[in-house]
Amino acid sequence: MTKTPFFDLERPYPVAALVGAGPGDIGLMTLAGAKALSTAAVVIYDALANPALLELCGSDAELIYVGKRAREHTLSQDEINALLVRKCRDLMNGPEYQKRCVVRLKGGDPFVFGRGGEEGQVLTEAEIPFIIIPGITAGIAGPAYAGIPVTHRDFTSTVTFITGHQRDAGSGKATGTQAGDETSDVNYDALAKLGGTLVFYMGVKNLPDITQKLISSGMAATTPAAVVRMATHPEQQTVVGTVETIAEAAEKAKIKAPAITVIGKVVSVRDELNWFEARPLFGQTVLVTRTRQQASELGEQLINLGAKVIEAPTIEIVKPTDRQAALAAIDNMRAYDCVVFTSPNGVFSTWQAMEELELDGRDFAASVAAIGPATADALRSIGITPDIVAPDAIGEELASELIDYFGRKNGDVPAADADMNLSGRRFLLLRAEIARPALVDMLRKAHAEVHDVPVYQTRIPDALPPSAVEAIGNGTVNWITFTSASTAKNLHTILPEELRAMVGKCKRLSIGPMTSQAMESLGWPPTAEAREHNIPGMIQALLHEAMKTQANGSGK
Ligand code: SAH
Repeated sequence: MTKTPFFDLERPYPVAALVGAGPGDIGLMTLAGAKALSTAAVVIYDALANPALLELCGSDAELIYVGKRAREHTLSQDEINALLVRKCRDLMNGPEYQKRCVVRLKGGDPFVFGRGGEEGQVLTEAEIPFIIIPGITAGIAGPAYAGIPVTHRDFTSTVTFITGHQRDAGSGKATGTQAGDETSDVNYDALAKLGGTLVFYMGVKNLPDITQKLISSGMAATTPAAVVRMATHPEQQTVVGTVETIAEAAEKAKIKAPAITVIGKVVSVRDELNWFEARPLFGQTVLVTRTRQQASELGEQLINLGAKVIEAPTIEIVKPTDRQAALAAIDNMRAYDCVVFTSPNGVFSTWQAMEELELDGRDFAASVAAIGPATADALRSIGITPDIVAPDAIGEELASELIDYFGRKNGDVPAADADMNLSGRRFLLLRAEIARPALVDMLRKAHAEVHDVPVYQTRIPDALPPSAVEAIGNGTVNWITFTSASTAKNLHTILPEELRAMVGKCKRLSIGPMTSQAMESLGWPPTAEAREHNIPGMIQALLHEAMKTQANGSGK
């Protein structure tokens, strides 16, 4: 039997994984690939692998970029191979052998124009056990996201993947700018005769040459063709024509790499299947101001609707000034009739403190109240169902709900007469360091005993991420969303004067009246305000605006 490095009975876990990252949309990475990344000690990745996938790695994973970078020397394939082998050997000699792996992350599928075959051979040669995790290749995903089925019973039963990348005749050196370096030894006569669907990778520069050769080899000049650039990304761009016109059309549309060219009758089906570019917010760039810690539910939904989302954290949640007071109050929560949360941050900060104090769900107050559905959801996410929820994120409403709830408990007195009725009731408010006093005032007026304890404070981050600054600066942002007055105020503070003026030129969406008021006073009146003051309400407002714009026939 030949010796194989793939499996060692004593050490069954692979050292390396050649992983396909898919074409760009991070949702197209396989579960196996995601698992490999989560255990990776080292990730060696290319330009076409979406860097957002690296968030699947542990924070201590070593991330090594080996793609091309402007003005920087690119690693040759030999250097990449050597690096891969060296990292695998380091792992095998270290304490994490059999626990973690070295991931070689490549765009699309590692074996499709990706030199994954060569890298695998190098690993075999070095006796390093590895696995291959295929990915969705751009030649399948690109057409699919452009609404082009690569096969269709009515049109074709063959699909051919071709590299459009050619060798420089004189030097024998490869030309072109893409990751793969396969030589182009393409038989255009055979391709033109075969017909069916032809899918060209790495062919943007050579498109005039490719199409010309196909036509002179006998392909009908009217054969439909399409070029899909940045497929599966929010920036996806598709140009459609015929094999005769597509090269010029692509040039006119300034199509650059990475792009896939599809030639064949299947392209005509796009008219009926163009789902991705037809989504209501496709082509819109939305800057989402939010807290640094908040998982962006809004961002995720906007992406699903086709928008390009740029996250702009404008608030940082940090521990309160008097941390001891917060811990003492939380430790004593059972002594209250009701604990009141006014924000998801209050809930999560409290929960974090409870974990530190070794408390759990049994240590809450007898009843739990929340302002607004987001706060209620935050409570549910930690296993606590709130007894009282004020429908809107407005403090006054919760105060009257509480008065109503405990007023009735105190003796069936209608809410209107209940203002004397909270005597003897103890409320604990766990909220932000700077909070509006309305809620406390109203409860105290009703003779309740109220302890208002800050469990977190907010801070303005030093700066926005470079991607956000750049997008605001170059005027590519269509919408900015504001989910609170502080996101507006803080954005204003963080931005230099000239960028503030740029914000004034974007469309601005506000979550509700308080936020709108703050925006107005900053000179950024809202273009639209959510009717329901929550994330679904904001989405509705944006969709409504998008429909209006479409109806008016303007792109922006
Ligand atoms: N292994 C990769 C291909 C690498 S070769 C795969 O399986 O997809 C690089 C070429 O892939 C690019 O020149 C382009 O033709 C294509 N490509 C990769 N990602 C793409 C994308 N998101 N959109 C369009 N083309 C893409």
